[in-house]
Amino acid sequence: MGANTADVIVVGLGAFGSATVYQLARQGVKVIGIDQYAPPHDRGSSHGSTRITRLAVGEGEVYIPIIKRSHEIWSELEASTGQKLYYKTGGLIMGPQDGTISHHGKPDFVRRTIANAERWGIDHEVLDAVEVSARYPQFQTRGDELAYLEPDSGVLVPEACVQAQLQQALALGAELRLNEKVLYISEEGANVKVRTSLGEYSAAKVVLTAGPWLPAMTGGTMQMNLRVLRQALHWFETTRPFLYSPDVCPIFIWMHGSRDQDYMYGFPMVDGKPGVKVASEQYETECTPDDFDRVVGAEESQEMFDINVAGRLAGVTSKTVHSAACLYTVSSDSGFVVDTYRDMENVMAVSACSGHGFKNSAGLGERMARWATTREPAGLEHFRVARFNT
Ligand SMILES: Cc1cc2nc3c(=O)[nH]c(=O)nc-3n(C[C@H](O)[C@H](O)[C@H](O)COP(=O)(O)OP(=O)(O)OC[C@H]3O[C@@H](n4cnc5c(N)ncnc54)[C@H](O)[C@@H]3O)c2cc1C
Repeated sequence: MGANTADVIVVGLGAFGSATVYQLARQGVKVIGIDQYAPPHDRGSSHGSTRITRLAVGEGEVYIPIIKRSHEIWSELEASTGQKLYYKTGGLIMGPQDGTISHHGKPDFVRRTIANAERWGIDHEVLDAVEVSARYPQFQTRGDELAYLEPDSGVLVPEACVQAQLQQALALGAELRLNEKVLYISEEGANVKVRTSLGEYSAAKVVLTAGPWLPAMTGGTMQMNLRVLRQALHWFETTRPFLYSPDVCPIFIWMHGSRDQDYMYGFPMVDGKPGVKVASEQYETECTPDDFDRVVGAEESQEMFDINVAGRLAGVTSKTVHSAACLYTVSSDSGFVVDTYRDMENVMAVSACSGHGFKNSAGLGERMARWATTREPAGLEHFRVARFNT
């Protein structure tokens, strides 16, 4: 096999690409990973120091085995690299008892989560507002909350996860071509050709994990059902940091008002920054990954504080100590999209974000590796774009 020839080429080495390259390298497959930058970087969807992971996800049962497998892989990676990738802090998901609010496209999110935990035997507790306040004085409840508490939820460090998988992939023989942009992918006979800013490559299979750059590369139904949205992350000062230390504070998802956008999620202080990280989500304003405002304005942080944080997080002030902007790639039904790229049967595109992708990334990377190397079903059927045509 020539230097630019491989069994599999992975385009894009963020959350999903790094996981796929790592899994392929583990199997001894000749794999080349290509990225336009040098991941981990802060230009796509996998930066900002922390990501929530939880098991009984209300987004759908289809994700649960993928997340469970991801937890096993991160644990193996922590052992093999000595790096801290996951903090087991527990997770609290709260919403109004009446269940009126949707989250990630799913109504009555808290009860859906509880039902999934029961069906999958996932360790959890159900709490009311009084019990939440008694255990977690940092959360100032209103009285009508229903809460789901999951001990195995926690915080992933996205940059470290990407780094660890790329490092291990390299050690296992993968080739990584960084700061090289893929310009064109085409099928020629049984092979796929990948043209980049620096050369040309050939492989039997290509996995395209280009994150927020994917919608503009693709076409047809896939492109029509994907949108790229800028999201702002805020770290607010706290006068009571002991309330937000990871040994007493879980990750939290809190739907608190009557509208779907009356919502925040946040983290205990694990990232060394002198503030509590919180964020909300916006689904109105689209952007492109090469042209969006990376600076979070003071008014944006103030609005986030006024609508979501004030009166809810004890000891958190409106002073912003840090902020960042990051990109969601969201599908029409908030589910993942994994399907052939421009009808090329040997090229699989993965846009597995919709704001809840990271926790799945290690396990989905393993499934992508299975797709690329065997004829066995890789468990990707649920993510096909055909569902949008029905
Ligand atoms: C603010 C925010 C908060 C989130 N919170 C959570 C959370 O709490 N829990 C959770 O599970 N998920 C969360 N997510 C979602 C999760 O982070 C994403 O699903 C995941 O990071 C997406 O990874 P990706 O590999 O698709 O994209 P990326 O990590 O962006 O990787 C894409 C890569 O492709 C490369 N690339 C693109 N085009 C080319 C090209 N032409 N040539 C070469 N390389 C190319 C890019 O340089 C990039 O490195 C959040 C996302 C955001 C933005």
